[in-house]
Amino acid sequence: MLKGKTALVTGSTSGIGLGVALALARQGANVVLNGFGDVEAAKTEVAKTGVRVGYHGADMSQPAQIADLMAYAAKDFGGADILVNNAGIQHVAPVEDFPPEKWDAIIAINLSSAFHTTRLALPGMKQRNWGRVINVASAHGLVASAQKSAYVASKHGIVGFTKSVALETATTGVTVNAICPGWVLTPLVQKQIDARAAQGGISVEQAQRELLGEKQPSLQFTTPEQLGELAVFLCSSAADNVRGVAWNMDGGWVAQ
Ligand code: NAD
Repeated sequence: MLKGKTALVTGSTSGIGLGVALALARQGANVVLNGFGDVEAAKTEVAKTGVRVGYHGADMSQPAQIADLMAYAAKDFGGADILVNNAGIQHVAPVEDFPPEKWDAIIAINLSSAFHTTRLALPGMKQRNWGRVINVASAHGLVASAQKSAYVASKHGIVGFTKSVALETATTGVTVNAICPGWVLTPLVQKQIDARAAQGGISVEQAQRELLGEKQPSLQFTTPEQLGELAVFLCSSAADNVRGVAWNMDGGWVAQ
């Protein structure tokens, strides 16, 4: 379905980003990966699908490095047809104890990076009259939790950004949407489970059950594979007129 297209997925060396990159690659899209950690493992996994795989190590908090990433995608892959703004970080603390540098980093990586990539990807998409921008927001883009002020602000922000750019592109072949996962068992969430276990003097399994029970009525984690398939749907022609949505896949979290 996506043969001949290129998908650029930020923060795709692990977790949701890697799941989305793999799902798009299985549909035939070439993939540009980005992120830190075990880059070779991610590249090898995506390459197994038979598509062409690139990588750029831009730090998504740095606009100049983001411009380099977009230039690399343009030069080596003819530009991003599918842009998945996924890179994200979390920090949990009450607002009066929230380190200002953590606030700035969360806003830069979770929100501003999507502005910097989208701004540079749109002209090519418009020229080709086909494009997909998929912003990985969160259930926290729709509702809040205590102690996550920066994250909730960034994710509400990206939902707003999604709607605005969807309106600007509404008469073109470019669609812009957000997906809003509930809990997904990735390193980002494992950290929170481990902290909960340590603070409560409980087992990691118990902490995991409590975390799900508090927010996610299905009591099941959403998986990177399921989110990948949602991204595939948004890239299909059936989704040509899906514009500006913030689509939750959250086990019922925001239905409460
Ligand atoms: P993760 O920690 O597994 O992956 C994050 C990815 O972003 C990694 O590839 C990491 O290397 C990369 N990254 C981090 N900082 C970066 C930076 N400065 N520059 C470039 N890359 C950077 O986390 P995840 O859970 O897969 O999160 C992915 C996205 O999904 C995030 O935007 C997160 O907010 C969102 N999300 C996660 C959950 C969840 O439950 N895990 C729920 C809702 C939304």
